[in-house]
Amino acid sequence: MKKWLLLLSALLCLPALAAPLPVAASFSILGDLVQNVGGERIQLVTLVGPEQDAHIFQPTPADVQKLGGTRLFFINGLGFEGWQKRLQQASNYRGKVITVTQGISPLAMKDEQHGHSLDPHAWQDPVRVQQMVKNIAEALSTADPAGAADYQARAASYSKKIDQLMAWAQQEVASVPPGKRVVLTSHDAFAYLGQRFGIRLISPQGVSTESEASAKDVARLIRQMKKEGIRALFMENISNPKLIEQIARETGTQPGAKLYSDALSRDAATGNYLGMYRHNIGALVAGMKENK
Ligand SMILES: [Zn+2]
Repeated sequence: MKKWLLLLSALLCLPALAAPLPVAASFSILGDLVQNVGGERIQLVTLVGPEQDAHIFQPTPADVQKLGGTRLFFINGLGFEGWQKRLQQASNYRGKVITVTQGISPLAMKDEQHGHSLDPHAWQDPVRVQQMVKNIAEALSTADPAGAADYQARAASYSKKIDQLMAWAQQEVASVPPGKRVVLTSHDAFAYLGQRFGIRLISPQGVSTESEASAKDVARLIRQMKKEGIRALFMENISNPKLIEQIARETGTQPGAKLYSDALSRDAATGNYLGMYRHNIGALVAGMKENK
């Protein structure tokens, strides 16, 4: 009898004893999604960390090594990680690359000057994130079939939280009169959010933080803000604040709370996707209510 009990307890402990699946995620927001689905069955490394800009990331030899040891490499795709192929080559990558935006309908970029024509910032739409979560669960289940039920359950429970976030965000935005739903941000990272919630977005910088706004564009924006009475103006955690500060000075406005566009924060409250999104919606709504 005792032998049986020992054997049983050994069997029950097996999943916990199995080595976690080593996976990588390209940037902090995606890393959080992967971690939520993977739970304790995965060992995650995230390449572009909180408060860092993935548009201009330069992988180091340490990054090459980090990626090399993983079996799955989760990327956003849509041209976001311009450095991804070089990094894979440098680390002689043998794992599988998973593009989490597979199957979502991407938005086109406003200007086509940058060589690629799709807007990468799809995580700014919680509905599209639902598809990403599904893709993550599928990829993990394929790589680690013993954990499939666990991944699906975790994905389903996380997906419910995204539904709740959506319902809350819709209510919040609905409290702003439609005519006031316009916002100025430093780089064009919120088109998906704007489309989902019916918010008009303007920005002096293009879709990538690599581009620079021309003096003419900035002057035009300042005229537009004055004419339309736009007072909702925001800086982002990854962008240089100078331009927004200049526009704020020249239009006599006060920038709202910092928005998280392409990276999580290091603070606990905005250090995860759900918290980051709540913060952004709260800040945007407060800002839009100041519009005339
Ligand atoms: Zn961006």
